[in-house]
Amino acid sequence: MNDTNENPIYELKPEINFCTCGCEARLLKERSADSEKGKLRYVVRCLDEMCGHQGRYTQYPWQAILEWNKSPMSEFPEDFRIPFLTLTGLGGEEIRQKLNEHRLTLEQKIKQLRAEKVSGNTEEMKIARLQLMWVIYAQSWAKLKFPREDELAVIDENEGAEESNVQEA
Ligand SMILES: [Zn+2]
Repeated sequence: MNDTNENPIYELKPEINFCTCGCEARLLKERSADSEKGKLRYVVRCLDEMCGHQGRYTQYPWQAILEWNKSPMSEFPEDFRIPFLTLTGLGGEEIRQKLNEHRLTLEQKIKQLRAEKVSGNTEEMKIARLQLMWVIYAQSWAKLKFPREDELAVIDENEGAEESNVQEA
């Protein structure tokens, strides 16, 4: 290990967001019913069994957490922070642009590493991929928090649809 006083991967570890039902959610390792060859996969699931909310099955634990965090089944924390990007002092649109740019940079970097035949097990590749997952998670947060006008129109339509469902029920 050539880490001196820091562990960059550890800093990327995400907290598990609360479920929208108000309950805590937990990371589990289990065989998913639909996984090929019954391989063990990671998944985040609400602790309230009646709720039934769960994220996607993934190969890596932190990936499962980020998948859950960005899904509409969990709640974004009040104090949203990205471990490797500072967003303080930026407006909503600036934040979204910064995230978009950072995502492109990371995608380029991963492409470059792959082209150089760098293994997925190297620290550099792992960090780049985790950072990319973080940025995608942050983008879903920023989209909800700082919607653009055309996105608001879409949200209104969806809400209208939900209301009519309620009336039918
Ligand atoms: Zn729940």
